Amino acid sequence: MTTAGRMPRLAGRVASVAPSATVEMTERVRQAREAGREVLALASGDPNLETHPEIVAAAHRAMLGGETHYGPAAGTPALRAAIAKRLAERSGAAYDASEILVTPGGKFAVFAAFMAALEPGDEVLLLDPCWVSYGPGVRLAGGTPVRVPALDRLDPDMLAAAVTPRTRMIVVNSPANPTGRILGREELAALVALAERHDLWLLFDQVYADLTYEPSAFAFLQALPGAKERCLVADSLSKTYGMTGWRIGYLAAPESAIKAALKVVQHSIYCVPPFVQAGALAAFALPESVIDGYRDRFRQRRDRAAAALSALPGFSCPRPPASFYLFPKVPGDDKAVAAEWLDRLAIAVLPGSAFGEAGRGHLRISLACEDTVLEEALRRLERHYRPNR
Ligand code: PMP
Repeated sequence: MTTAGRMPRLAGRVASVAPSATVEMTERVRQAREAGREVLALASGDPNLETHPEIVAAAHRAMLGGETHYGPAAGTPALRAAIAKRLAERSGAAYDASEILVTPGGKFAVFAAFMAALEPGDEVLLLDPCWVSYGPGVRLAGGTPVRVPALDRLDPDMLAAAVTPRTRMIVVNSPANPTGRILGREELAALVALAERHDLWLLFDQVYADLTYEPSAFAFLQALPGAKERCLVADSLSKTYGMTGWRIGYLAAPESAIKAALKVVQHSIYCVPPFVQAGALAAFALPESVIDGYRDRFRQRRDRAAAALSALPGFSCPRPPASFYLFPKVPGDDKAVAAEWLDRLAIAVLPGSAFGEAGRGHLRISLACEDTVLEEALRRLERHYRPNR
């Protein structure tokens, strides 16, 4: 028998992974635009912030200065120290440079944490609805995602009931994508207690921590008593500084976990380009007022859009305390509503169920767009749902 024309087998762990709904929608919008159709994109998590010129200048200087070679795999000493200092100042938990691993974006920090901590068959608890990449990341690392419904509150008993002898980690994202929700201190304390009882890792994804409109409601998980030594913190410059395309973020964790994740980095991407790291250093040197300005823009859009959406018949859109997402409850099936918006109104959003069962009946609307795009989308929705006004 000949094998000509047949392909060798591909890995089952990849076959079990669904493509990212967010990346797919971004592709659909791109294709529609290439075909000459103008689509209002309220689907992507890429903030419409231009990277600050001082960040660009620092990277440019580094390139001209020859920082175009391999660098230390864990990150440049200067950047690791700057991250540790900033993280300690923001979170109130002490961090040393040896507890920091520079990664290409928060996404790879999450992936490296999964690769470093999970054995094949280990279970990871996810709070549903959640960011689309946790489940696939767990699977690619050989683990099994276990989803626990937690749309607007965390039920500690339900979470405890989901723990089995194979459970190794709980993923905690606050402020959360897709809901913009902040987990309260009691909820976080319950997570720490559960993790202590069963000796679990807590992966804390804080990529939206700079975008909180109610800072007093927000707590860094690693600052809670007993939490830091079991916390794998993933963070990123993408959302805070409009640096999604730079691919720069970090993992902060106990040194032994950083050494394990470092092997993942060394043997996959090797290192984040040193000139990108020079840009990140310049970002941390910017005054806080820069971030305040970005946050104000998103807050204004949130207030404007939440009020407009709540006025539509059958919609309910509370103002989330953080992030640039809205997660309104919509009348009818969320996939059908999202498809109708795309086909009839040329507005791209994501169905809430793309983030898990508990998101069903909602849409995720991203406000990381131009004001003019948001205004036009709200006009179209108003005309569509209230044609006689
Ligand atoms: N975590 C969450 C919850 C996110 O929404 C995102 C981006 N969509 C990331 C991590 C990763 O972002 P990046 O890799 O650009 O840092």
